[in-house]
Amino acid sequence: MSEVLNVEEIFASKVFTLGKMRERLPKTTFKEVQRVMEKGGELSKESADVVAKAMKDWAVENGATHYTHWFQPLTGITAEKHDAFVTHPDAEGHMIMEFSGKELIKGEPDASSFPSGGLRATFEARGYTVWDITSPAFLKEDATGVILCIPTAFCSYTGEALDKKTPLLRSMEAVSQQALRIVRLFGNTGATRVTASVGAEQEYFLVDREKYLRREDLIFAGRSLFGAPAPKGQELEDHYFGTIRERIGAYMKDLNIELWKLGVTAKTQHNEVAPAQHELAPIYETANIAVDHNQLVMETMKKVAGRHGLTCLLHEKPFAGVNGSGKHDNWSLSTDNGVNLLDPGRTPNENIQFLLVLACILKAVDEHADLLRWSAADVGNDHRLGADEAPPAIISVFLGSQLDDVVSQLIETGQAARSVQGGKLRTGVSTLNDIEKDATDRNRTSPFAFTGNKFEFRMVGSSDSIADANTTLNAIVAEAFCEAADELEGAENFEMAVHDLIKRYLSEHERIIFNGDGYSEEWKAEAARRGLPNIRSTVESAAALTTEKSVELFQKFGIFTKTELESREEVTYELYSKSINIEALTMIDMVKKQYVPAVMKYSGQLAKSILAIREAGGRAAVEAAHLREIESLLEKVERAREALEKVCATSQAMTDPKTQAFAFHEKVVPAMEKLRAPVDALETLVDKEAWPVPAYSELIFEV
Ligand code: ADP
Ligand code: MG
Repeated sequence: MSEVLNVEEIFASKVFTLGKMRERLPKTTFKEVQRVMEKGGELSKESADVVAKAMKDWAVENGATHYTHWFQPLTGITAEKHDAFVTHPDAEGHMIMEFSGKELIKGEPDASSFPSGGLRATFEARGYTVWDITSPAFLKEDATGVILCIPTAFCSYTGEALDKKTPLLRSMEAVSQQALRIVRLFGNTGATRVTASVGAEQEYFLVDREKYLRREDLIFAGRSLFGAPAPKGQELEDHYFGTIRERIGAYMKDLNIELWKLGVTAKTQHNEVAPAQHELAPIYETANIAVDHNQLVMETMKKVAGRHGLTCLLHEKPFAGVNGSGKHDNWSLSTDNGVNLLDPGRTPNENIQFLLVLACILKAVDEHADLLRWSAADVGNDHRLGADEAPPAIISVFLGSQLDDVVSQLIETGQAARSVQGGKLRTGVSTLNDIEKDATDRNRTSPFAFTGNKFEFRMVGSSDSIADANTTLNAIVAEAFCEAADELEGAENFEMAVHDLIKRYLSEHERIIFNGDGYSEEWKAEAARRGLPNIRSTVESAAALTTEKSVELFQKFGIFTKTELESREEVTYELYSKSINIEALTMIDMVKKQYVPAVMKYSGQLAKSILAIREAGGRAAVEAAHLREIESLLEKVERAREALEKVCATSQAMTDPKTQAFAFHEKVVPAMEKLRAPVDALETLVDKEAWPVPAYSELIFEV
């Protein structure tokens, strides 16, 4: 029997929770902390010192030697710089571990080495990290020891956000303020805050570490840049929800334990569609914490994999020909007195507040589809969005039959008299219960789907931070709420005004609703007729940030300044160019040092045996044909490699980030595909023993 695991005991054992603060802080300090967490404002210097000491004592009791301001620069991952709690020893050489309120609140990492999109020149290095009191500090334990991690925001000397957290927090305040205006219109005066809640489902691949280490492409690019398809893919649909193999099960168990200790509510686990692909979903929580926790999920997935001789691939498309990975961002808004604004109830047609919220969200998504699309863009996701496995690159909203019917009634008559109900599901088996059906079926192909009491934004890439997506959602919905509230607060007859407004918003933005098959070709044509944008790539998506309407939106709510938006657009281009450049260089390297030498060696042997066979009186017809085919492919490889090197060099030399990113997208990416094709063809011809890297079949089927 295995040891009994006490989840209640280990949960959040590595987190400096509110509960621990209550135990360890004087009552007045604790109250102050709680107030700042809920209502904002600043902690006094004295209280900050008290909190810092309590936090340090707890950390040291748990083995910590260092602390770090943990932040999320525009690289999309997290950053940390460790400082030991050690101080000057006293005259007698005693060491006293210390940590002050000042150190808790403010850090000064060098800002010049993080992407800033022109905001920071290398000579202007100052940047600050600032404690985010709303996300709890935690302990990270690895080979470096135990480190106290303090979630922080990261800003430049001049106050511009250089990270993903600052704008997210700003957007949460904006949507809270505007949503409060909406609920007050309906008489909810008790609410003081509206919180965006987020649950992010995380997909990932696991491969054997030994094999991973033999593939430069997986190491440098996180995805395979070559690889002929295995004889079997995912066509039997036998992996999705399939029995979890022992090795993977042991990994998942370990992963859950680590996450629970960090206060992450790892809840659901299952095998995904592609071989070697899996998913983990935690329970939803406040957007800011959900973003931090998703970073911890990704980090822990990678760390735990190492212990099991595995490597976790978070790339959106690690293997061609089978599904890639995404992240479903489930999002809703709730008041602090317990109302989920996205809960339609049993009879949505009578729930005017819900219908208003829904109309505002449809308006927001329709007006800012381009921004939402940018928020889910990253280099890896270009392989998914618009390909036949993930939502299309076109943003549309799935409402389901019940809401769709209500919306149609409202558009036609301004009134909705009825709501379709789910009814009973009869199984036809007497020993099985008849069950209550949901009023609406699901749709797997929609990028933005209503799922009961939340929206599920399904476009985000698996390796990406969910911060941009939620910042954008909060911002665009805040704007729609604001416009609606401006109109309705001044209305003489609220009832009539709200009906008119709902009808108007729905009619104007009906085009964004689509309940059909988002993967189909017909939808692409239909979406074009409706005028919906189809933004196919990351480089094309970035311009959305700096359109007039985007600048107006983000500035209005103090989420981004124009300068910050320009910097983010530039960072998108820079990261794109750098990533593709790495991929291209990796391909060139593998071709020159691995594939070509291996093929030459093999064809050399083949040539020798042809000569030997002929000398012995045979014809060697098969061998000779084989050799010719290999030779011809090898020539193609050489030509394609030269062409890739050339476009790569031209693109590298470009100085304007946007022009450069477009060059990488339009010139380098196709040249990479041209190089891949003959190499993959060779893989199917050359002796398996002679092939220099593990094949797809070994990577995804033999985990
Ligand atoms: P589904 O099967 O609809 O995807 P799940 O229950 O599996 O639903 O939930 C998926 C994710 O959505 C989980 O992280 C879950 O906690 C989260 N979630 C559920 N309800 C909400 C909500 N009201 N707001 C935000 N996220 C939610
Ligand atoms: Mg889901």
